[in-house]
Amino acid sequence: MNIEETLTSLRKELDPFNCKLIAVSKTKPAQAIMQAFDSGQRDFGENKVQELVTKHETLPKEINWHMIGHLQTNKVKLIAPFVHLIHAVDSRKLLATINKEAIKNDRVIDCLLQMHIAREDSKFGLTKDELIALLDEVAAGEFGHVKIKGLMGMATNTYNEEQVSEEFRGLHELQLSLQSKYHSNNIDMTELSIGMSGDYKLALQEGSTMVRIGSTIFGQRSYP
Ligand SMILES: *Cc1c(COP(=O)(O)O)cnc(C)c1O
Repeated sequence: MNIEETLTSLRKELDPFNCKLIAVSKTKPAQAIMQAFDSGQRDFGENKVQELVTKHETLPKEINWHMIGHLQTNKVKLIAPFVHLIHAVDSRKLLATINKEAIKNDRVIDCLLQMHIAREDSKFGLTKDELIALLDEVAAGEFGHVKIKGLMGMATNTYNEEQVSEEFRGLHELQLSLQSKYHSNNIDMTELSIGMSGDYKLALQEGSTMVRIGSTIFGQRSYP
């Protein structure tokens, strides 16, 4: 299937779940992104700041750019003027920096908090206690220029589907409990960013509202 056909069939799969497709275009050239854009795709995800900035400068302004990868605090200023949603907020320091840069740009930046759900050390993310402590601060008005839209997580990289589903389910249950706990202008726990090419079908079953899909759309990458 070409890019356009893949997008059409993915949308058919996601629509019944009311799930949004983030096309992960990291390492892929402008031409591939434009093929997706021309078939109606508007949300794209990148995991490297410099690549995100360059693509934002050269591609259509209608694109919503999602920063999906680990973000270093010293690079926040480069994307703060335009980023649509930051998926992987994994520390208080990072959230504080995003808030500071949002103030400078006179905007409110939408964020997801990344929870550590995988049984792997390598994946970034907050623990549940850190997450609650951070949300308490946001609810108290500490970070007026960020809006927490929900949670993001990456499951363990395993063929064990039961394990992946369990990890996703735990995050969904947490999202629902936080939704009923926090009622604040800056917290709106409606989004759950789970699911990639290898596990998005499981994520849809567990309440995903945004899947981040790269290789299924654009083909294998030669580097991560
Ligand atoms: C690369 C990446 C994806 C997409 O991965 P695919 O397996 O190519 O679909 C999703 N989320 C994050 C955080 C990524 O870095």
